[in-house]
Amino acid sequence: MSQELVLDVRHLRRSFGKVHAVQDVSFTVRKGQVVGFIGANGAGKTTTLRLLATLDSPDAGTIEVLGCDATNYPEKVRARLGWMPDNYGTYDNVTVAEYLDFYARAYGYVGAGRTRHVDEIMAFTELTSIQDRLMHTLSKGMGQRLCLGRALINDPELLLMDEPAAGLDPKARIEFKNLVRILSQQGKTILISSHILSELGEMCDTMLFIDKGRVVHHGSSETLLRGDADYLRLEIETLGPVDRLLAWAVLQPGLTFVESTNRGARFDFAAKEQGDLAQLLRCAVQDGIPVCDFHRLERRLEDAFVEVLKKSNGPVPATPPPFKP
Ligand code: ATP
Repeated sequence: MSQELVLDVRHLRRSFGKVHAVQDVSFTVRKGQVVGFIGANGAGKTTTLRLLATLDSPDAGTIEVLGCDATNYPEKVRARLGWMPDNYGTYDNVTVAEYLDFYARAYGYVGAGRTRHVDEIMAFTELTSIQDRLMHTLSKGMGQRLCLGRALINDPELLLMDEPAAGLDPKARIEFKNLVRILSQQGKTILISSHILSELGEMCDTMLFIDKGRVVHHGSSETLLRGDADYLRLEIETLGPVDRLLAWAVLQPGLTFVESTNRGARFDFAAKEQGDLAQLLRCAVQDGIPVCDFHRLERRLEDAFVEVLKKSNGPVPATPPPFKP
C-alpha cells in the first residue's frame, strides 16, 4: 500500500517584481521519503522551501502539508514541520541550552518534561558537551547542529532543510549525513536542498531537480544513477598507444567515444545482453589491444543533472510523473 502523502504541491508560483523565482512547481512527497531538492544558484530552491515552510505566500498554486492547506492554515502546518534555514541569526550572551530551551518553551513544553526534551535533542545532535557555550562562538558545524536541534524541537513529521551541509568540513558532513539517516529511519520525511550534488546522492532516495523555477525531473535516485538503461559507461585503459585503442573502438558496434583519459578513454556501450561486455573485452584482447583496465563507471549525479537540464530545453511537463514506490 502506498505511503501517506506528506506534501502535495501544485502549480506553485512566486515572483519578486519582474523576477519569476518560482514559475510552475508541482510535486508530491510521501511519508519517509528523503528528497534531494537540487538546482543551480537562483533556480528557486529557497523561495520554494520558504513557501512550504509558510514563511511566504505563493502568488498562485496550492501547498498541502499532511492534508492541511498551508496558505489558509499556516499555524497548523507549522506545528508539524521543522525548518532549517541556510543561515540563522545568533544572539549575544545566549548559550546553546538556553537557545533550545527558549524554543521548547515556545512550543509549549513545560517543567521537567521540557528539560528532558532539550537534553534529548542535545544528545541527538551531539551538543551536550557544549551546552554552556555562547551560541555566537560556535563553529559552522556546531551551529548547523544547533540549527537542526531547533528544527527538531517540535518533533516534526516533515523537515525542510535549506543547504544544510554548505560550508561544513568533510567530517561534519559525514556526521550530518548520519543524523539524516537516523531521522529518516525514525520515519521523518525530509526535503534537503543543495547545489552540491555529490553530498545528496548517498542521503536521498528521491531527487527533485528544479531549473528556472520549474521542476525538470522528479524520480528515484536509483533510476537516475542507473541512467538510460540502453547503454552503460565504460572506461578502458591500454598499455599501448591510445590512438590505437580509439581506432579499434570506432569499429566496434555499439561503442561510442565519450572522452579521453590519461591512458585510455571513456565510452558509452549499448549492451543488449549480460555477455556483451565480456565479448567486447575478448574482442579487444584478440585484436591485440593491450588492455590494462576495463571497468564499468557508476553514473554521477552531476552527469544525470546536466543530462536532465539538456533534455528540459524541450517542453516541460506541467505535472510530475506519478510516484512509484
Ligand atoms: P541559491 O542556491 O543561490 O540559494 P536558490 O535556488 O535558492 O539559489 P532563490 O533564492 O529561490 O534561488 O532565488 C530565485 C530567484 O529569485 C533569484 O533570481 C533571486 O535573486 C530571486 N529572489 C529571491 N528572493 C527574492 C526577494 N526577496 N526579492 C527579489 N528577488 C528575490
